[in-house]
Amino acid sequence: MKRAIFPGSFDPITLGHVDIINRATNLFDEIIIAIGVNNDKKYLFTQEQRLQFIKNTFKNNSKIKVTTYQGLTIDYCNKMNAEYILRGLRNPADFEFEKAIAQTNRNLSGIETVFLLTSANTAYISSSIVRDVYRNNGDISSLVPDSVTKFIME
Ligand code: ADP
Repeated sequence: MKRAIFPGSFDPITLGHVDIINRATNLFDEIIIAIGVNNDKKYLFTQEQRLQFIKNTFKNNSKIKVTTYQGLTIDYCNKMNAEYILRGLRNPADFEFEKAIAQTNRNLSGIETVFLLTSANTAYISSSIVRDVYRNNGDISSLVPDSVTKFIME
């Protein structure tokens, strides 16, 4: 069974994440989307909201599980029997940042990180831009899945 963990903050999940996850379902038998819990970080959406956004988005896809975790991603991979970490790459800054983490993770645990290159039409999307637009009452519906837009409209 090829199982991958897709770790992130997902504050909130965007169409960039959705694109990476959907494409990765062709590569893996199971993908665990794992929201990393960092008590020092300030989030816009609560952990429960971020979890629900992702669950609703993938409710019809049995290959995808959604969880939260604390601590090192590689420890969580071992706990969940996942041999791969999934990450997306948008630009050289992502590459430089991800390279050191992936090499450290492989060195410490042997776990491989698999990178998917962002699609051209979602390359510019980031959770931080979505948060900025949202905080300033802008329309984020073209940047996030419907589960997030619906929640905001309520
Ligand atoms: P983190 O806090 O770990 O950076 P994010 O939730 O921002 O978590 O992102 C999780 C993963 O999704 C990262 O690998 C990031 O590069 C990737 N990602 C985010 N936005 C996009 C996008 N538009 N296209 C491709 N990958 C993306």
